[in-house]
Amino acid sequence: MIIAIDGPAAAGKGTLARRIAAALGLPYLDTGLLYRAVGRRVLDTGADPADVEAATAAARSLTEADFQRSDLRGPEADKAASQVASIPAVRAALLDYQRHYGATKGAVLDGRDIGTIVFPHADVKLFVTASLEARTQRRHAEILGRGEATSIDAVRADLAARDEADRTRAAAPLKPAHDATLFDTSEMDADMAFAKALLLVKSKTSSF
Ligand code: C5P
Repeated sequence: MIIAIDGPAAAGKGTLARRIAAALGLPYLDTGLLYRAVGRRVLDTGADPADVEAATAAARSLTEADFQRSDLRGPEADKAASQVASIPAVRAALLDYQRHYGATKGAVLDGRDIGTIVFPHADVKLFVTASLEARTQRRHAEILGRGEATSIDAVRADLAARDEADRTRAAAPLKPAHDATLFDTSEMDADMAFAKALLLVKSKTSSF
């Protein structure tokens, strides 16, 4: 069974996807980490994440160790991930890994293009959204929780810029698959979102 969970940054899709995977006994892949790891590798070499050759070389040489790095979160990694993600050759290099991940045991994957490109025939597709304000509050709290300093305005501006870049890029833009269920978490806390999403997933997979 493949469950695709897409949506903009900080909509709550990662938490939801992880909990749904645990509840259903499925492996979980945070595909944003792949793009973050590529962005980090490019930054390590001193190159610009928008540099097609540098980013493509990094994507082709990723190893599992790259996903374990402790510096894959935060504004610099966010921006680098979004930049490398707009490069078609980077996306192509990461496609097989994502498809193989779900091939044997099934999986829950979250990202931007899981239901549209990676698994267009996924059994369940959720497009998780929340208002910019709700997402800003959540991301702000998350950053402060990591002990880092930031302002609400900076977080809001970063999220809005990344969403715009992800929505308007030519390669695999962020958009709901035509057969995705829209799931707005603006007025829900994490527990309520999980309970509702699990019911939704179960209702769609009851025939399995
Ligand atoms: O989900 P997360 O915020 O960690 O993703 C970081 C960036 O990676 C996104 O802003 C997006 O540009 C890119 N991404 C993508 N496709 C995915 C997952 C992430 O383009 N499936």
